Amino acid sequence: MIKLLDLQAITNMHSDEYKKAVSRVIDSGWFLQGNEIKKFETDYAQYIGTKHCISVANGLDALYLILRAYKEQGLMMDGDEIIVPANTYIATIISITRNKLVPVLVEPTWENLEIDIDKIETAITPKTKGIMIVHLYGRVAYDDKLKDICKKYRLKLLEDCAQSQGCAWKGIKTGSLGDAAAHSFYPGKNLGAFGDAGAVTTNDSELASIISALSNYGSQEKYIFKYIGINSRISEMDAAVLDIKLKYLDDDNKQRQRLAAYYYSNIANPLISLPKYIDDENNVYHQFPIFCERRNELQKYLNSNNIQTLIHYPIPPHKQECYKKWNDKSYPITEKIHAQELSIPMNQKISQDEAFEVVRVLNSFK
Ligand SMILES: *Cc1c(COP(=O)(O)O)cnc(C)c1O
Repeated sequence: MIKLLDLQAITNMHSDEYKKAVSRVIDSGWFLQGNEIKKFETDYAQYIGTKHCISVANGLDALYLILRAYKEQGLMMDGDEIIVPANTYIATIISITRNKLVPVLVEPTWENLEIDIDKIETAITPKTKGIMIVHLYGRVAYDDKLKDICKKYRLKLLEDCAQSQGCAWKGIKTGSLGDAAAHSFYPGKNLGAFGDAGAVTTNDSELASIISALSNYGSQEKYIFKYIGINSRISEMDAAVLDIKLKYLDDDNKQRQRLAAYYYSNIANPLISLPKYIDDENNVYHQFPIFCERRNELQKYLNSNNIQTLIHYPIPPHKQECYKKWNDKSYPITEKIHAQELSIPMNQKISQDEAFEVVRVLNSFK
């Protein structure tokens, strides 16, 4: 089976280094809020190009805490609206509703799969306080137009970078394009920990300090609680592992880009379409989505030819049971993406032979 993501093979590439780092943490007897975390936060902030990086327990908490901090600052209130793409992973939407804010769903473009920036202005109301873009599949969801809209309407520009570590727009890294950004280090992401982990990056020092307090029960000073916070931290072990993985991230992404270039030049089946290739972005191909009207048949065909695939995602957020009140709403482009998307094997360990086989089978689908 050619796997979508072979985490064992990927981990084996540097397992000696990871074991050494984990041993170092065990021997130190210090497991939270220590030097490994400080070092990773410093290195990750430098990599992204922001003043601050605050590590938190996972990507959902990172998203949640950004909005929560704006609420603590009085910049957002219950019932305020956040513009967000209709085609995203549910976590983006949950972070908004969990803060008693209202997600305003905007369609993506079919060509780019990212939020349609030309449809944003009509979605803005007096209650709109921010735009949360999602760099889905490792592509850039940003354009300079977005900054102009945020300036004009005084909106916060927020980024969900869960799928975009290393991705950049004209050389500027995602995670530093807006006011604050959420990152996930879930094991399957381009930069993945050995469990759950996440981070917020921002240049806003006040916001960083509130998020840091909120993630630690609301405390900035030991046993003094300014906010009703949560417990959202990463372990020293994960920080040590992530710091090693960060060194290899650009090389890993280059491997993904080589594979993507091979797919783009060789997948040639009129039944299958590929997303538009965009010059200005450094796409890090968290997933390589392809589209087919007979998607489920294609998935079966690939599976019977030993090629693993996954659908990202089968049901859009507005059709989920947890958001019943939106089930009747219609977002045709989003629905088309969810009906036709299939992610094919994409990671830094796919060999030339495997890539050849994936393309051969895709091109033989009738
Ligand atoms: C993975 C993911 C998240 C959530 O990250 P977790 O670390 O799993 O909480 C949020 N948004 C997007 C787009 C994701 O892909």
